Amino acid sequence: MPNVNLTLVQGDITEQAVDAVVNAANSSLLGGGGVDGAIHRKGGPEILAECRSLRESRYTEGLPTGEAVATTAGLLQARWVIHTVGPVWAKSEDRSELLASCYRQSLRVARELGARTVAFPAVSTGIYGWPLDDGARIAVATARSEGEGFEEVRFVLFDERSYDVFAAEV
Ligand code: ADP
Repeated sequence: MPNVNLTLVQGDITEQAVDAVVNAANSSLLGGGGVDGAIHRKGGPEILAECRSLRESRYTEGLPTGEAVATTAGLLQARWVIHTVGPVWAKSEDRSELLASCYRQSLRVARELGARTVAFPAVSTGIYGWPLDDGARIAVATARSEGEGFEEVRFVLFDERSYDVFAAEV
């Protein structure tokens, strides 16, 4: 296993002083609730403008689930926002590989940008309904196997419960 500096904080993803923050986006790239809403609210219209132009050029059908793409971070402290689309939880189908792909692809994009520090929310565990313990397990395992070379890969958990669940995995 590579030696990856994984850290956990309880807090708000929009307030992280890292090179890149990851957005739990939806495939439209045009904004939504949860993390997505918070990032666009605080980051200002520049992020949405770049998302719109990505929709008109590279992703006319939307950003596929499990993929990731970067934009400016507008007014946020971070330099980039990496938008990734988590899978919606489904009891009837194992979509774990798509959730792992979100972390893997986001780290690939971060690496290509030259980001040294990256902060993730708990992708899919909000509106998309993924069970927190399983979402934490996939997040930590994937960051551990794919996060080599970064100074820090940070998970930002909004509340105490999700912090505790992640803490049990790290
Ligand atoms: P998804 O649609 O992928 O489920 P959400 O944004 O609804 O994404 O939620 C993902 C996780 O992020 C949830 O655990 C939610 O509690 C948490 N969350 C919501 N807002 C923030 C925020 N501002 N910073 C960090 N985490 C947040």
